[in-house]
Amino acid sequence: MRPVAYARATSLDDALTAAREPGAAVIAGGTELLNWLRLGVAAPDRLVDITRVPGLDRIEPLTDGGLRIGALVRLNDVAADERVERNWPVLREAILKSASAQLRNLATIGANLLQKTRCPYFRSEDPVRCNRREAGSGCAARQGHDDRHALFGWTDDCIATQPSDPVVALAALDAHVVTRSIGGGRRLAVTDLHVLPADGVDRDTVLEHGELIEAIELGPPAPHSAYIKVRERESYEYALVSAAATVQLGDGRRIESARIALGSVALRPWRMTEAERRIEGFAPDDPAVTRALDIALAQAHPVPGSAYKLAIARGAARRALLTAAGVRQ
Ligand code: SF4
Repeated sequence: MRPVAYARATSLDDALTAAREPGAAVIAGGTELLNWLRLGVAAPDRLVDITRVPGLDRIEPLTDGGLRIGALVRLNDVAADERVERNWPVLREAILKSASAQLRNLATIGANLLQKTRCPYFRSEDPVRCNRREAGSGCAARQGHDDRHALFGWTDDCIATQPSDPVVALAALDAHVVTRSIGGGRRLAVTDLHVLPADGVDRDTVLEHGELIEAIELGPPAPHSAYIKVRERESYEYALVSAAATVQLGDGRRIESARIALGSVALRPWRMTEAERRIEGFAPDDPAVTRALDIALAQAHPVPGSAYKLAIARGAARRALLTAAGVRQ
């Protein structure tokens, strides 16, 4: 048995100082970190418990009409917030379709964004070749079971996907992540948080050791939005593919602007920015919208066993867009 020290931070400064120490890992709800410890994915010398750090468990309005959600707010508390339900329903939907009610009662919104891939080789209890588990060991999925893997942004070093549901909704909302570290902090687009394999497989996010997520910031309300999650069973299952959409309709109920993000297709939520631009000015159910989605998905480069996910992604993106626009299907 490996001894692990435990310390409870009582202020953000305490937490930042302790988290910066070599071998330290931060624990909040623990729903993901404890899995890493069990599997040997992480082997910290010290756990820094930040659950008692004041101020990180609040949801507060922003002056531009947005909302600031503290990193320690539990997933079910985000979903239950009346402002989220009314103004950013896509986030509520994505949360309620993630994990189980029990897990959502413990898991925090900040840590949810930091969960690691569900690639079965990465999560294996037996030794396997996995560049994320052991640098330079290879990628067992590349020659093995690759049926729940990437459509975009992969390399031969890693073909995994990011499994979070909320992060897909946050990508479609153009949300930002606010971080803190001893040196200061930064505010970055949620779509810039995760690192694609081309930029290295030794890290999942751009966060430095000791840099903590302090809050998630949502922009002005996006009430016309929807989240579609396609999975092998209807409860407590990770997505094969998911899609989040927000839409603004103008005259004649034509699309003034839209944002569409796909989940479980890459190691970060994947925005369909070119399609978003192409569909402006069309009715949501115009065939031109479907064509725009097809053009965007034609740029995908699926690993062979996951090519079937392209059709699912197309359907999920279309359904999310139509649902967000209030079109009966
Ligand atoms: Fe490891 Fe990535 Fe390959 Fe899965 S896809 S075995 S996580 S390197």
